[in-house]
Amino acid sequence: MGSSARLRLYMNDNGPLILDGGLATELEAQGAKLQGDPLWSARLLHTNPQAIRDAHHRFLLSGADVITTATYQASITGFIDHLDVSCERARELLMSGVHLAKETAETFVCDARPAGQRCPLVAGSVGPYGAFLHNGSEYTGAYAQEMSIEEFKVWHRPQIDCLAAAGADLLAFETIPSIKEAEALIELLREFPNSQAWLSFSCKDGTCISDGSSFSEAVQMANRCTQLVAVGVNCCSPALVEPLLQSARSLLSPDMSWVVYPNSGEDWDSEQGWLTSEKTSASISELGHTWMKQGAALIGGCCRIGPAHIAELRRELKGSCTSPSSAV
Ligand SMILES: [Zn+2]
Repeated sequence: MGSSARLRLYMNDNGPLILDGGLATELEAQGAKLQGDPLWSARLLHTNPQAIRDAHHRFLLSGADVITTATYQASITGFIDHLDVSCERARELLMSGVHLAKETAETFVCDARPAGQRCPLVAGSVGPYGAFLHNGSEYTGAYAQEMSIEEFKVWHRPQIDCLAAAGADLLAFETIPSIKEAEALIELLREFPNSQAWLSFSCKDGTCISDGSSFSEAVQMANRCTQLVAVGVNCCSPALVEPLLQSARSLLSPDMSWVVYPNSGEDWDSEQGWLTSEKTSASISELGHTWMKQGAALIGGCCRIGPAHIAELRRELKGSCTSPSSAV
């Protein structure tokens, strides 16, 4: 079965698909030093691929149906600039993100899941241009004012080309702050007619994506692309998800689902990183039922959400972990 047919089948199944949490969060929890690195978790594709396999494995153990590659901040230009590698090697590194995730998923199914379990899906992560700029602009989208749709397409094309060629089950356009960049990604997706994707925005409040455009406008744009299986939000506070979905409730095309994977709700500081705060916000597992009722078909976590949170989310939404060896 082709991956697109498989994806539709998965999504028509009972209950939402559980995504993984923040891959970088888990890599850091295991000792990787990513803070301040312009390549972020993508550097480990070059320096420590085993750490990436291990992190994917822990999310699979926690019950994730979909794992996302370590390519959010990966680009040909970034690898050439920061790793001093050839263009060819940079392409290989991008593709290796998919290969590592697929190998881990296949091994996991053979080793840990009961017979007949389905293989988890691999989503190829495509971050915004602002992630390459490494200045926090993926949460403002300010750079989009000076860039054309064509420039965005030139930037994103090699990464999408590599992820699709490496066999990602779908693409994850994620933490996208601007309508213009989203439009460019949708146009690009049409150049890869066998690929499907979800489109997920970074948001500034309960009705707007980061660049100030309304989320409902973003949803209407996404509706026009039949290769998108879901549209939604990620890396925002969990508290914003319900109002955002509500704001565009009547607009979602029947062929499309919501994808939601917020962060823990803690605050990010560009100097200090994530600030652990005393304030308690409702967790993704507490709010997951609400999102499910709102029609979310893909639910998971982003930064600061680790395997233990994903296991809890799964128990909450689906009753149990699929794996008998689900201790995390
Ligand atoms: Zn995040």
